[in-house]
Amino acid sequence: MTDKPRPILRLKNPPRLPPMPAPLPSWKCKPCGEPFAPSQAVDAEGDVRCPRCNARIGALADFSERQEKVRARRMVRPAPARPRPHTRFG
Ligand SMILES: [Zn+2]
Repeated sequence: MTDKPRPILRLKNPPRLPPMPAPLPSWKCKPCGEPFAPSQAVDAEGDVRCPRCNARIGALADFSERQEKVRARRMVRPAPARPRPHTRFG
């Protein structure tokens, strides 16, 4: 028996993959209150800027590492499925 590499079959009409959903805004600009998603608001220098007032909010890495440094508030979203015991931070 010979092991010949098999050709990779391709579909003539491949199904179109749905586009990746845009990340939901999870932060609010402190100066103006505009909700935004940090990964959608990065400028050429790697700084996150508010899409409305253009304030420099912080470096993109700060959103995951030093959240106290960024000029934005994290938006709290209610859990969709089952209710959880309410906890308060700060
Ligand atoms: Zn703003």
